[in-house]
Amino acid sequence: MGTSVVIAIDVGGTGMKCALVRPDGNVHHTERHPTGAERGPAMVTEHILDVASGLAGRARAEGLDPRAAGLVVPGVVDETAGVAVWSSNVGFRDVPMRSLMAERLGIPAALGHDVRAGGMAEARLGAGRGEPHVLFIAIGTGIAAAHVVGGHAFAGAHGAAGEVGHVIVRPGGPPCPCGSRGCLESVASASAVGRRYAELSGITTATAYDVAARSAAGEPLAGAVWTDAVEALADGLLTAQALYDAGIVVLGGGLAEAGEALLVPLRAALARRITFHRIPRLVRAALGDTAGCLGAALLALDTLEAAA
Ligand SMILES: [Zn+2]
Repeated sequence: MGTSVVIAIDVGGTGMKCALVRPDGNVHHTERHPTGAERGPAMVTEHILDVASGLAGRARAEGLDPRAAGLVVPGVVDETAGVAVWSSNVGFRDVPMRSLMAERLGIPAALGHDVRAGGMAEARLGAGRGEPHVLFIAIGTGIAAAHVVGGHAFAGAHGAAGEVGHVIVRPGGPPCPCGSRGCLESVASASAVGRRYAELSGITTATAYDVAARSAAGEPLAGAVWTDAVEALADGLLTAQALYDAGIVVLGGGLAEAGEALLVPLRAALARRITFHRIPRLVRAALGDTAGCLGAALLALDTLEAAA
């Protein structure tokens, strides 16, 4: 047999990021496909299996040996049982993805959660490298986190750990899709920042990144919206730090694209709140939107290591 590779697939609400990855973490090949969530979960599942099968075929055609597959999905994931329990944007309800994948491909498979896998990749290969206690926070449409210790992310008893986005930071505040009010993500997600700015300014096309840029350029309205988001994030981070005592906090997702325009005021806002807590290093993610796919590859490689 040829050189070993693993198949890695990161399924999102709109697209799937796929790769063949070597055991040393080097990426041999990447491809992207639409998820096709509008066709329903059964069709999405078939599509994922077809794409995985295509990647295995491609590897073999190139003389490589596909040894395992890693798949990561959003929502609630039971990693121990290998079941995609629930996902609002893909529609999964109790889909046994790991066994379906292993049966289709005839090789071991692993199923993980997209943000936890992304956090694992940032901790082992990205911005958290060398730091044993990493808190990865993805700030995009929503806000979710992964607590990664020694390279492994904690899933919780029900596969639902790390929902920092639903820590209530503004009681009675804006409604959140979860049914509560004033959750961190209802105030400080990239979507919430764009929405709040649109409400106040009438400009509906500005992204969170644009709001940060307008704030930096001295526009008072953008400055107020940005400051509100940063203050809310600092409140959420303080709670997270009280619980996790992270050595480093790695910020990813759309909001983190603001870079220092986010990190500088956020460090200051956190420092103002700190009492007994130890301040974590606060940095921007290094792997961008490939973190989830690399995390899927790590899960597949871990499967092989566990079997060896
Ligand atoms: Zn919520």
